[in-house]
Amino acid sequence: MTADNTGSSLDTDGLAGGQGLAPTVTQQSRVACNGGGGPLGHPQIWLNLGTDGSVTCPYCSRQFVKAEG
Ligand SMILES: [Zn+2]
Repeated sequence: MTADNTGSSLDTDGLAGGQGLAPTVTQQSRVACNGGGGPLGHPQIWLNLGTDGSVTCPYCSRQFVKAEG
């Protein structure tokens, strides 16, 4: 048995993960989210920003925040 560690480069999409994703700033109190479309997307839904001015998409966990001022 040989430790054949050939560096096979996997062609990742680059969108997988989503860690450290910056919140999307919006000036509206209602935003639409579809996960960015494509195979990683989800059906478009509308999200109402809460009284704290933020909402998180239940599908893709993307966070939207109301722009200040
Ligand atoms: Zn979403």
